[in-house]
Amino acid sequence: MKKIFIFTVFALSATLAWSQAKYIFLFVGDGMGFGAVTLTEDYLAARSAKATGSGALAFSTFPATGFATTYSASSLVTCSAASGTAFACGSKTRNGRLGMNEDATESFTSIACRLKEKGYKVGISTSVSIDHATPAAFYAHQPSRSMYYEVAQDLAKSGFDFFSGAGFLNPLGKDGKQESVFDLIAQNGYTVVRSLSDCQSSTAPKLLLLQPESKPQNAYPYAIDKASDDYTLTQTTALAIEKLQNGKGFFLMVEGGKIDWASHSNDAGSMVREVMDLSDAVKVALDFYRKYPKQTLIVVTADHETGGLGVGSGEGGSTDTQGLEKQKASEEKLNRLLEKATSYSELKSWLTANMGIAISYDNEMTLRNLFAASAEVLPASDDTPCTLKRTESLTKSIMRMVSAKSGGGYSTFGHTGTMVPVYAIGEGSELFCGKIDNTDIPKKIAKAAKVEWK
Ligand SMILES: [Zn+2]
Repeated sequence: MKKIFIFTVFALSATLAWSQAKYIFLFVGDGMGFGAVTLTEDYLAARSAKATGSGALAFSTFPATGFATTYSASSLVTCSAASGTAFACGSKTRNGRLGMNEDATESFTSIACRLKEKGYKVGISTSVSIDHATPAAFYAHQPSRSMYYEVAQDLAKSGFDFFSGAGFLNPLGKDGKQESVFDLIAQNGYTVVRSLSDCQSSTAPKLLLLQPESKPQNAYPYAIDKASDDYTLTQTTALAIEKLQNGKGFFLMVEGGKIDWASHSNDAGSMVREVMDLSDAVKVALDFYRKYPKQTLIVVTADHETGGLGVGSGEGGSTDTQGLEKQKASEEKLNRLLEKATSYSELKSWLTANMGIAISYDNEMTLRNLFAASAEVLPASDDTPCTLKRTESLTKSIMRMVSAKSGGGYSTFGHTGTMVPVYAIGEGSELFCGKIDNTDIPKKIAKAAKVEWK
């Protein structure tokens, strides 16, 4: 009898290690591997004039930490659709699939839908287009992530309460002749707002916050390039909390989508600012957590690593992360310069002014070779403007060289299969400790919320 009593008390205390997580945040740094976090922390330390060391990101000091494997059903190196499906729906799938099984015959149910069924409000927020793979994994079921119109149709039918992102990639379908997704969204009870103040004042029950039509619809500008009227993840996260807060709880996914984009371009200076942008948004959730510590769970992770970033493995083993501070523009701005007729001299002085680098003898040779290989016709002199081809790959090669000078040594322009960090704080956070798989993440969130995963 005594034994049964002791066992019962033990079992009860084990299951009651946390009360129910009622307010759940999942932050996803797209492409944010250990290298991205480490380089950003090193940069923050350098900014505060420490010779070496580690500055703190909002999430890197969370009490529960672990790492997640990210392989997909078809490759050791996942794409954002397969990994999004894994940490939204708890199942592996092939690269490119969204919320569906490998042969696209079965739709999965995401953690967002499961919590919605239990009365939680749901918000999905990103710094790229709202139909992009990571946000879409929570509401869409499509054989291909590039079926943006069909993904948007799924968004309209999702019933979720709040969305924010840049816009839609294909609002009229591939042929431009389909019914507008904005009509479908309105028919399903959503109100679209295109400014932070309109979002703030709206009392509509289902909201979609997008960038103004005058801004690009594929992504927010990089944090490093932002104008004062551009949205930040901090602002949209604060608005999402305001719109979602209710007595039954909420689930909010926030994606920092351009950590991945900067990493694809091997642009370390832009990447660290994107990681900081995500970290600032996590601070908003932390403020909320401090008000409701017994009911809030915050999880921060990544879908995969991008760029194969090694810290200090750049040029000559450089660890001069202070150099990143001198960078004032992103790879997108460099690419815009290269898309128009540019002279070699103009490129060199632009790099000094905007990337803050002194071109060394070795760099000079590399840069000159890259420039010459891209020129439609070899220019007569360094000051002769010339038309360049394959500017995107030229941009990436130049950015790899720039990043290497500040300790950012990239090894690929693609994704890698290395594990990603997982950080958690709040109710149920201990579930995220140790080595896990990305498919465990939604199941652990469900467990923290005391929702059965069937
Ligand atoms: Zn990517």
